[in-house]
Amino acid sequence: MRLLIVEDEKRLALSLAAGLRAEGYAVDVTHDGLDGLRLAGTEAYDLVVLDIMLPGMNGYRVCAALRAAGHDVPVLMLTAKDGEYDEAEGLDTGADDYLTKPFSYVVLLARVRALLRRRPRPAPAVLRAGDLGVDTGSRRVHLGEAEVVLTTKEFAVLEQLAARAGEVVSKAEILEHVWDFAYEGDPNIVEVYVSALRRKLGADRISTVRGAGYRLEAR
Ligand code: CA
Repeated sequence: MRLLIVEDEKRLALSLAAGLRAEGYAVDVTHDGLDGLRLAGTEAYDLVVLDIMLPGMNGYRVCAALRAAGHDVPVLMLTAKDGEYDEAEGLDTGADDYLTKPFSYVVLLARVRALLRRRPRPAPAVLRAGDLGVDTGSRRVHLGEAEVVLTTKEFAVLEQLAARAGEVVSKAEILEHVWDFAYEGDPNIVEVYVSALRRKLGADRISTVRGAGYRLEAR
């Protein structure tokens, strides 16, 4: 899952990003509204955390412009307690939820999870491929009855494959959803994680489809 944070309070933005990355999300950060609109319009995000008072373009306008362009990415708006935020106005512009500053990180995380669950392409809580169960809520993986312990990145890669078990998922799609915009390293990083998953889950569970990507075998 890949998230975008548009927030000009740099310390807040960076601490949110660090917390969300620790939960296994890929996170991009920008401090400017116009740049946020550009990124949200061109990159494949699963959710946008959007401040209202921003340089460049305010959050209401960013959200309205995204919706006008047909993007249905979930938007969680952040606002200060001083009344800068008008809930009705925010929801009018197409925001899905809002959070008043200061908020606790735990509450933010709960809202993020709730919004991700509400996505138009609803994913079942437990993705299944044969005897493999990938619980996207508790972020645990079971092979039959036995739990398999994965790192957050391994889990994120497996989640992408399990969401489309039996289908080929390209390396680019996995990269796009699991690594953030700042990642400029070798795309073969995906292979490294697939190899780790094969060691933990069994070599024949994930097939390489040459030139196309990977397929989690649904058996
Ligand atoms: Ca602000």
